[in-house]
Amino acid sequence: MQKIELTDKKLKNNQRVRWSIETGKKGPVVVLFVGIHGNEPAGTKAVDQIADKLRSDSRKLIGAVYAISGNIQALDMGVRYIDTDLNRLWELFQNRRTATNQNGTSKAVEYGESLEIKETLEEILKKHKKSATDFVFADLHTTSSQSCAFILLNDTLSNREIARKFPVPQILGIEENIHGTLLSYINNLGYKAIGFEAGAHEDELSVERSEAFLWLLLHNCGVLVLGESEKSNFEGTIQAHDGVPDTYYEVLYHKRVEDPRKFQMITGFQNFDPISKGIPLAYEFDKLIKAPEDGRIFMPLYQNVGHDGFLIVRAVSPVWLELSSFLRKSSVHNYLKYLPGVSVNNERSYIVNLHVARFLVKDIFHLFGYRVSKIDEDTLICYKR
Ligand SMILES: [Zn+2]
Repeated sequence: MQKIELTDKKLKNNQRVRWSIETGKKGPVVVLFVGIHGNEPAGTKAVDQIADKLRSDSRKLIGAVYAISGNIQALDMGVRYIDTDLNRLWELFQNRRTATNQNGTSKAVEYGESLEIKETLEEILKKHKKSATDFVFADLHTTSSQSCAFILLNDTLSNREIARKFPVPQILGIEENIHGTLLSYINNLGYKAIGFEAGAHEDELSVERSEAFLWLLLHNCGVLVLGESEKSNFEGTIQAHDGVPDTYYEVLYHKRVEDPRKFQMITGFQNFDPISKGIPLAYEFDKLIKAPEDGRIFMPLYQNVGHDGFLIVRAVSPVWLELSSFLRKSSVHNYLKYLPGVSVNNERSYIVNLHVARFLVKDIFHLFGYRVSKIDEDTLICYKR
């Protein structure tokens, strides 16, 4: 029988840790986040379901597993967030800015929540620093539109290595469009982190898929071993329908929304539906918005909170993936600084002058594993992930 604590008394932050497994054996440490958005209960149900099953499971486990609650106050109220999106504020810590006002009071409920999550994370890292063979983080979400399951990842080779073991579509490079996510924060600390999106918020299937993902994650990380038939059952549960190949996709376009109350997606779009350039997608301030590119619609906003109206994604060619994997392991990237218009910013980033470097800049830096952001119309900054 496994030792599964409902809360971990050894971590001082009891409420944040829903449950934990500590086998005391050297091995992988898997940290699961659920309910970072309070209106996405599927992940919380799934982690609790798997804990119940593991309690009576005789399988041998190694390493440790933690299930961490995200936005506890928003979860209680069943809303996405109280004051601000808990999955958009993690750049604060990267920029070493403070989450509190000068008098020490919190600006928003979510700043307090993020500080507690950060402390919990640091405690787990510290506690298992010597015994962990690997740290893997996963963040469980659902979408406002109907959707098959998919994985979101920042495009690093180590994230790809974890993510590609799941037979679902994988979206690369979301961090260039959506900033301040928990996943980016953890990646920047140097750990593997992937996001699993299970389907629509209130769909029972989203709970089933989340649980199947968790079993597969524990298996793929080496915490436990699934039998062949169990494994293929779980893979069957998360697999997308034939219309959405389980390959890698890149983000081509991101429609940002200033005021979600003035934005209305045209009804009927499901995540990953193919769209062609020019078709009507949404209204903003009563003005029609048409698709600026061919591709697939991604995360259309069907709730009146959040600032990401929709994205457009397109499958990435397998040749690009192979090439990028080869180049990132090579020393060719030392020569990037000799490209026209490229200058060294610091040891992890380059500045690109678009007046000089006009063509394929983004593509070249993506190949080498850089995150590309715009500073202004004429300048890009490219960070090594
Ligand atoms: Zn979410």
